[in-house]
Amino acid sequence: MEATVHQQQSSVLPGSHSPEMEEIRQMVQACIQCGTCTGSCANEFAMDLTPRKLWRMVLMGREEEIFASRTFCLCSACYYCTLRCPRGLPLTEAMYRLKQVAAQRKVKAYRASEAFYSSFLESVRRHGRVRESEFMTLYFKAMKNPLLPFRFASLGLKLMAKGKVDFKLPGKGNLRLASLFQRVAEIESQRFGNQVKPGTTGKNH
Ligand code: SF4
Ligand code: SF4
Repeated sequence: MEATVHQQQSSVLPGSHSPEMEEIRQMVQACIQCGTCTGSCANEFAMDLTPRKLWRMVLMGREEEIFASRTFCLCSACYYCTLRCPRGLPLTEAMYRLKQVAAQRKVKAYRASEAFYSSFLESVRRHGRVRESEFMTLYFKAMKNPLLPFRFASLGLKLMAKGKVDFKLPGKGNLRLASLFQRVAEIESQRFGNQVKPGTTGKNH
């Protein structure tokens, strides 16, 4: 028993406060802070912490700064940083894990992203493809902000005028993908605990 406790203690370095963050820290442990990931990221201009700084924060166990940041929310999983990292680190997977931890902890800064992913996938689950108007309706509902639709009204009208968006009310769909989504939920539950809805954390986006 003592050995087990010692093993658990020694696997978590000072500054790293939780097993899930320790797992992410180990993914980027060999980072040499060269900045290639930052220089490779097409979304870096919009990030408050550059990817290089984010990995430094992870190594230092600075969870408050990490989850106050929107950097991992803005990762679009293009894998370019992963391909170019001279240490061969699984950076996109690490970003994905940060999204999952943020979803599990219900981090405020990640709420809009989680609502976006969940609504997108709920529409895909119902119909096998996304229905844009349904997706946005689900998203607005999840965000519980009555003024939010007005921010998108002009863009929505332009897209409708060009025939890019079908106006269809939300429906239940044929649910042919329900068993597939259920299986993903089971796998995610086994791997990460049962607090994350299937596919809500953006690995495929
Ligand atoms: S490219 Fe790799 S080694 Fe370089 S800063 Fe980014 S994570 Fe670290
Ligand atoms: S995977 Fe994410 S962090 Fe890496 S380059 Fe692409 S968008 Fe940037």
